Amino acid sequence: MLELKHVSKEYNTQKVLDDINLCLPNKGLVSIVGVSGSGKSTLLNVIGGIDKVTEGNIYIDNCNITKFNNKEMDWYHKKYVGFIFQSYNLIDYLSVKDNLLLVSNNIYNILKKLNIYHLRNKKVSLLSGGEKQRVAIARGILKNPKILLCDEPTGALDRKSSIIIVEILKELSKDRLVLVVTHDIELANKYSDHIINIKDGKVNRINIKDKVNKIPKIKNSNYNIAGISFKHFKYKLKRNMLISISFAVGLIALGLVLSISNGFKNSLENEERNSLSKYPIEISSLSYSNDTIDNTTTSNDKVYLYDINHLNNITRDYINDISVIDDKLDYKIYKYHIDNHSLITSQINDYMNEFNILYGSNISNPNEVLLILDSNNRINMQELNSIGLSNTSYEYEDLINYSFKLNKKKYIIKGIIKAKDNSIMADISGILFDKSNFINNIPDEIYLYPSNYDNKRIVINKLNEYKEIKYMDLSTTFKNISTTIIDGISIVLVVFSLIILIVSSLLISILTYINIMEYKEEIGIYKSLGISNKNIKEVFYIENIITMAVSCLIALFIIKIISIPINMIIYNLTGLSSVLVTSNSITLSIIILSIILSVVFSYIPIKSISKINIVDILRHE
Ligand code: ADP
Ligand code: MG
Repeated sequence: MLELKHVSKEYNTQKVLDDINLCLPNKGLVSIVGVSGSGKSTLLNVIGGIDKVTEGNIYIDNCNITKFNNKEMDWYHKKYVGFIFQSYNLIDYLSVKDNLLLVSNNIYNILKKLNIYHLRNKKVSLLSGGEKQRVAIARGILKNPKILLCDEPTGALDRKSSIIIVEILKELSKDRLVLVVTHDIELANKYSDHIINIKDGKVNRINIKDKVNKIPKIKNSNYNIAGISFKHFKYKLKRNMLISISFAVGLIALGLVLSISNGFKNSLENEERNSLSKYPIEISSLSYSNDTIDNTTTSNDKVYLYDINHLNNITRDYINDISVIDDKLDYKIYKYHIDNHSLITSQINDYMNEFNILYGSNISNPNEVLLILDSNNRINMQELNSIGLSNTSYEYEDLINYSFKLNKKKYIIKGIIKAKDNSIMADISGILFDKSNFINNIPDEIYLYPSNYDNKRIVINKLNEYKEIKYMDLSTTFKNISTTIIDGISIVLVVFSLIILIVSSLLISILTYINIMEYKEEIGIYKSLGISNKNIKEVFYIENIITMAVSCLIALFIIKIISIPINMIIYNLTGLSSVLVTSNSITLSIIILSIILSVVFSYIPIKSISKINIVDILRHE
């Protein structure tokens, strides 16, 4: 039962409805007649809850709809009332079929009944007024509401079609209330159960008390939110693709920066592992160490002494013990200090891989020696003095076959060698003896050259067993500096690409707002069909997420493609391979970031959907 009590409606002080009191039954066809501008549409709209009354109350089965909140109003639109609008209010870019599928899956009977079956795949925008009207009627009927509100449903139809429609409405009114605004007094008289005459906002009183209906259970309509989003995306495809591309630019920048810093660090680390780990570990009987400074015991009111000299007591046992790791080493060099001069012996063979013979030949027996020159062709003066050579410079041939005595043994210089360019032995110079000469001596300095990173760890672990013998690892000082620089540069670049992303996100925010404005009418239609604000908002969120997904795909694809030439260029410039590596975590963070940004930045524009007032949009006069 529909009851209006003292209902008034004013538009800027113009009284359009003036103290209307009506009581209408649950069933039957009720016509509303009156001249244009008399308030017929307004009456229908306030009953349908898409316009607000200024005064009075409207009861549907004893529920006061003027007191409904948004949620209750959604429910009312969804389950109780249906509209057939004077101005059709169909979604123009959708086909007839898609418009009808918004309310029901079972559309074919009604299409045939209203003689629009042949139009089912046609876009609504291409239909004539009469055809649109029939589609609007079909939608109203399909929704199967308890109260069907029709605003001049036959206005655009010829007599014959009008009669068909009115007969359908008559049929429908057998188990529901059908309110029809019409100009056609003749049809109204013929078919109506009651006629409401409206004049200057006042009506003739109709008062039919009727039993109160139970709240109906109408089956859910079948609209598919994601489907609508996809249609939106397709409808504004060009613009959405442009947004996707502009957002993708930011994502590509971010992805590249993250990938480069990731890959660069990895490859630098590999490089360091492999090259730096080959730098020798030095154990010297006199080592310089800062480990002897014990900072835990200091306090601010005393003076403390520290000693950077640390004496390593290299013993025979130590030498024997660490020789178990010889297979982890490329080279091992011992230096002996005899008469205060350094003498070198190499313990592991193949060291000649690191040297070029400048003159003479390699040694072949224990009494032959080699002179090792540094990169500037120099050799330590004291060492040559100790074997009786005191000039400031020599020709190569003057030194070859020179013989001298040391520790009562006679030696002969057989060749002059120098470390190859970039050799890890570039710093070594002196006189190189065969190792057999010093087999019984204990070296004063030991240089261990691990063959790779993993072996270096084993070597270090071994050396760590001797707490009192300290070693120096030159490679550790190189590390960290380079990665810190990369971290610094990456942070700057990441900030830049985030700025690009935020600018594109603002663009999304603005375009979402424009989008919503453009779809305003459609939003009104959805609301009148009882699709809730929440669901309508989801349509726009999903549309943005689709845009972002396309954006991510574009970005990840382009990053993948351009990483190939970028890696090649970087390899040619620096010798570092696969510097640009997109890890899964980078891919994931790009996807998550874009979804978060799209949701956050479209939150405010999408929020405005709730404020859209149906009647402002759907009135076309
Ligand atoms: P009808 O449907 O009987 O032709 P309406 O109900 O559409 O009449 O309009 C009744 C009166 O209310 C008209 O004078 C119209 O100009 C006015 N009116 C309707 N809607 C609005 C509105 N949103 N703002 C101001 N005036 C309005
Ligand atoms: Mg009207």
